[in-house]
Amino acid sequence: MDLVVSDAVFVTMAASAEPAECMLVRDGRIAAVGQAEAVRALAAPGANVVRLGGATVVPGLIDAHCHVSDIGYLAASADCSQPSAPDIPAIQARLREAATRTPEGSWVTGSGYVEYKLREGRHPSRADLDRAVPGRPAVLYHTSLHACVLNTAALREAGLADGQPDPPGGAFGRDQQGRLDGVLYESPMFALFERNLRHDIARMGAAARARLVEMAGQRLAAYGLTAACDADLRRDTFAAFADADQGGLLSQRIYGLVVHDQVDWLLAAGLRGRHSDRLATEAVKIWADGGMSSRTAAIHGTYPVPPYGSGILYFERDELTEMVREFDARGLQVCIHAQGDRAIETVLDAYAAILAVGAGNPRRHRIEHGGAMYPPLAAQAAALGIVVASQPGFLSVLGDGFAEAFGDRSDELYSFASWRRAGITVAGSSDAPVITADPLVGIRDAVLRRTGDGRLLGPAERLPARGALALYTTQAAIAMHREDEIGSLEPGRLADFVVLDDNPLEADPEHITDIGVLATVLGGTPVYQSGSIFPG
Ligand SMILES: [Zn+2]
Repeated sequence: MDLVVSDAVFVTMAASAEPAECMLVRDGRIAAVGQAEAVRALAAPGANVVRLGGATVVPGLIDAHCHVSDIGYLAASADCSQPSAPDIPAIQARLREAATRTPEGSWVTGSGYVEYKLREGRHPSRADLDRAVPGRPAVLYHTSLHACVLNTAALREAGLADGQPDPPGGAFGRDQQGRLDGVLYESPMFALFERNLRHDIARMGAAARARLVEMAGQRLAAYGLTAACDADLRRDTFAAFADADQGGLLSQRIYGLVVHDQVDWLLAAGLRGRHSDRLATEAVKIWADGGMSSRTAAIHGTYPVPPYGSGILYFERDELTEMVREFDARGLQVCIHAQGDRAIETVLDAYAAILAVGAGNPRRHRIEHGGAMYPPLAAQAAALGIVVASQPGFLSVLGDGFAEAFGDRSDELYSFASWRRAGITVAGSSDAPVITADPLVGIRDAVLRRTGDGRLLGPAERLPARGALALYTTQAAIAMHREDEIGSLEPGRLADFVVLDDNPLEADPEHITDIGVLATVLGGTPVYQSGSIFPG
């Protein structure tokens, strides 16, 4: 049946931006968008008419780099976020409850706390967790996923003992006697999360795995997201997406970046390509270096802060070039995590070996993050046609740490305005669950570039609101090879759109994150509603 969406402000993001107040949806696609009378005249008699009372409609938002299964995994854990768990006793109660439904052999898991938002104003300790869950391993992840707390049984199972020196790229919290207090920071936290996630997913049945993907999708839909690139798809999580897709449980169009050591499996199983209009696996993911906030991104020079190194480069130039050449020859879009300038230089050299300058980048090989892509590197990326999937939302959440680590070069990090001027396609993304998946945070940060402590990082790199929204719509669609189908509201495109209670292009930038998502619609069908605008 025809659906007429009317009485709204349409931000179409189409190149020919004619003002529009009405849209006709037919068979999951946009049939027309424009002036009310003209659009209504095209609708079949008896069409469903939904009046939005002046709300704003934008294209379905796209997250070009996040970790969908990780989001679902944490969504299934005990909710220990604030304000829902305001203090440590509340967290203990949540963990105690979670213990009753956690299978033997898996760790009791909670997530989402922020120490300074707790009434106690500190990280919960190993002793706090022991009181909630004695005798079996329990872990509580910080919302940033850069720290977590283990109880005594978990510390034992992880092989961590008092007197343990701090590992490279990380640290252990200690009490006044120097004993481990259970808190893990950075590298040991990352290793533990990865180990637990893989272990638990491997033990899940097909239904539970599909449910995990479904829960992640529901969270993302509530933020207005209708498409996402999963930045480390593996055999087990691919199965989860495929099962969810079969069951009609996917709330986003998922584009999988398959971890490089699983490509042989993917190709041998004949799984490269578009599986349905909601699931595709056409890209490969490689990591060239470490992270910005852990100061393990590979840079020229050394960090002025612990651990004081120059970061970690995982592949030498020749080795990386060979990988890129092979994956490109096998028909895959290559997406390489590169944060530090030394890593970005290595990646661009690898791309330059297979792409002739001026000949374009037909597979749209990407750089993921691109934090320290300084002007000469950006010029090279532009000349090669490299797509960059980056995370404006890091600026408010992690920006103060960047400023400490990069000093007077920190104004040149994530230089979105310069990159766009150079002609680079910049796709917006969150890297969730590293930070929130809420794209409005990224849009606000691309406009304001203000850190948590209120410092401006590279004020010259601020984008106008329309440019910021483009990162999460038209630009992100290009990064996943779907710009003819999604990213703008135009006749013939898929009817993926979001109804917002305010217009992000007109709102005070300070209040962009207060804009409410009223409904998220995928292919003409609502996948999230805060009220009941659309008939079920
Ligand atoms: Zn990532």
